[in-house]
Amino acid sequence: MATNTTIEWADKTWSPIIGCDRVSPGCDSCYAISTARIRESNPNPKIAKAFAGTTTRTADGIDWSGKVNLLPERLDEPMKWRKPRRVFVNSMSDLFHEAVPDDYIADVFARMWWSPQHTFQVLTKRHGRMRSLLPRIETRLRDMERDLALVHAPTPLHWPLPNVWLGVSVENQRWADVRIPALMRTPAAVRFVSCEPLLEPVSLRRWLRPVPDCGHVTPEDGTCGHPAALTPECHRWADCPARPQRDDWRGLDWVIAGGESGPRARPMHPDWARQLRDDCAVAGVPFFFKQWGEYLCARVEDDPGFASGRAYDSPLGGRSSATLRERGSSFRPGADRLMRPGDRTRRTVLLDTDTIAVRVGKSAAGRVLDGRTHDAFPRDDFHDSVTSGLYEDLDAFSRRMDETHPTRRSS
Ligand code: SF4
Repeated sequence: MATNTTIEWADKTWSPIIGCDRVSPGCDSCYAISTARIRESNPNPKIAKAFAGTTTRTADGIDWSGKVNLLPERLDEPMKWRKPRRVFVNSMSDLFHEAVPDDYIADVFARMWWSPQHTFQVLTKRHGRMRSLLPRIETRLRDMERDLALVHAPTPLHWPLPNVWLGVSVENQRWADVRIPALMRTPAAVRFVSCEPLLEPVSLRRWLRPVPDCGHVTPEDGTCGHPAALTPECHRWADCPARPQRDDWRGLDWVIAGGESGPRARPMHPDWARQLRDDCAVAGVPFFFKQWGEYLCARVEDDPGFASGRAYDSPLGGRSSATLRERGSSFRPGADRLMRPGDRTRRTVLLDTDTIAVRVGKSAAGRVLDGRTHDAFPRDDFHDSVTSGLYEDLDAFSRRMDETHPTRRSS
């Protein structure tokens, strides 16, 4: 089953795999677990079967059971969608989960190759398997290309696939330092990082752009170690004398940031998002601010309760609540959009001496950062150059697909 999605940076999700396991603190509030739990008892037997057995009840609530369901009947879905879309792959699992066989992952990549009208966004926390498996995936696809049964492949194989963006999730610096170097060594037309849920300050500077005239590009991974990296004077990557040493290297192509949502969400300090936004701006890397999460942030001085001695929760705790009495429009405009009459006010957390986070719920918190949304996407030049000819010929391709996939006409 494929669904249109509320995920702000995708048009649609495609889930040929259901089920996962938690691997790091960013998984603590995994939305997919509760979604899977609900769908296990869906009245539609096809949906219930797809999710069957993937979750279990534990002393702490609901968790993944460790069962991962492969759904090969969903593999061809993107090939049947004519309209080009951004497709988030496996929103209910992780494509590189250890229970997913290599050949099945190759089958997923084959469908992405055969659906060049779409852009596929693959996001993983299994950076190591992604890195080690991709060369074998390429070999497998080249074998497929030689197979005469695949005469319907709409475009020759280009590697890395020009319409596939590969990304890693990063919730703190520790996992940034582990996952991003693996991503940078993985062949991909577009490499991106999703800093969501952002649980602490994270610096991506060394993976954005190196500096010219510095000699600080490290030969091991081509990243920049210059102390002044990303000042406005030193981000002209095209002029960098170190570049000939690593002509295949480039920085990250896209950064997403967002706070945590869900019942046990932890607040995100606005400065963490601002730092990522500003570093991306200097480096010329597109930045997408997805959401605040459950909390809105404000300056302490804008909270009238502060002057009257309000007691706040401890920084970043947020679990033991100090109930804030509903005070209508008690907050004045401050750093970001503040409370309005009707906002739910369950908890207030002091993030530092200047900033409070007020729990108002995900939709009320919204996705405005310092007065504007940030919706930048990577440029898709490589994809466009490879597929421009194809788009001109898309009608002919569609006719071929209609012949081989009769059910496609109704999609
Ligand atoms: S890797 Fe993703 S899908 Fe799997 S448990 Fe973590 S957040 Fe959930």
